[in-house]
Amino acid sequence: MIVIMRPGASPAEIENVEARVREAGLEPHVTYGPDCKVITVVGDERAVQVQNFGVLPGVDRVVSVQAKYKLASVEARAERSVIGTVPRSDSTMKAIAFGGEAIPVVAGPCTVEGREQVIEIAEAVRAAGAVALRGGAFKPRTSPYAFQGLEEEGLEYLAEARERTGLPVVTEVMTTESVPLVAKYADVLQIGARNMQNFNLLRALGAVNRPVLLKRGMSATVDELLHAAEYILMEGNPDVILCERGVRTFEDHSRNTLSLSAVPALKHRAHLPVVVDPSHGTGYAYMVGPMSRAAVAAGADGLIIEVHADPSKAFVDGAQTLDFKAFEKLMAELRAVAEAVGRSVAAQGE
Ligand code: PEP
Ligand code: MN
Repeated sequence: MIVIMRPGASPAEIENVEARVREAGLEPHVTYGPDCKVITVVGDERAVQVQNFGVLPGVDRVVSVQAKYKLASVEARAERSVIGTVPRSDSTMKAIAFGGEAIPVVAGPCTVEGREQVIEIAEAVRAAGAVALRGGAFKPRTSPYAFQGLEEEGLEYLAEARERTGLPVVTEVMTTESVPLVAKYADVLQIGARNMQNFNLLRALGAVNRPVLLKRGMSATVDELLHAAEYILMEGNPDVILCERGVRTFEDHSRNTLSLSAVPALKHRAHLPVVVDPSHGTGYAYMVGPMSRAAVAAGADGLIIEVHADPSKAFVDGAQTLDFKAFEKLMAELRAVAEAVGRSVAAQGE
């Protein structure tokens, strides 16, 4: 923390700040410049209310220099995290990892609509090169009258699709109570944008032995997303994958404003992998291809894309959903972009 004093701050005011810094267990170092006096504070500032120093007499402003996310921060780990799925006994599931050189593409419907639907999509996306299947069984819907998901029945269909295709399953968990149920079926538990700051849910995921895909809230800053990740990490689950899925802005040409600069911003601050969701990030199928390619070029460690056999009949999010042909074309384009930036699109393993 750096405390910048007002130009006319008195010696007594400076001494007062120094005393308060020492009271907090930190060490003040005063620098007297010709026009300004600055107090550099040495020590772990994370346990103190940094902004409280800003109201002391003679203080102009306070600058925090230490990231508040102790565990997610790049300072906390020498290398970037590579987060893999957890093997399942008696399963055909083929492992994937986020954060390595190879970029996994997760694809599937917005929501599980039925057994045949999800199996057909799983087989088609796997044939096109996806290495994981997405699909919501519990759906957070704006309207309580809209389709809410097939719940456990949907999870069973996802598990069946996994066994047929080997694709690990990424699916959303909405409540603390349903964490054990969803963890039984899911290989990656998704926290939706609407739940990014559901702190009890985040803490409950700390005890789960599966990776968590944490989506950025629609009005959350990058800093807030990292603080949310910290809740999961501090409860003992090191496997948090961050997901940029767009935020609300004044712009109305797209459903959300997909902030691709969040990819380098997150990777600059944290060692966790960053996945991009161009489907919710744009809201329109015609934008999904360009923004997926841009995401790979920007350094994304994975993509999560909505795909349906017939988007015009999708129960949820049809407008932003690719059909099989468009998804296959996109996968070929992504391989070229990945190669151009020194990476590859992950292929299904053994
Ligand atoms: C989803 O992935 O289907 C979803 C609801 O996403 P988000 O939470 O980002 O809106
Ligand atoms: Mn959706």
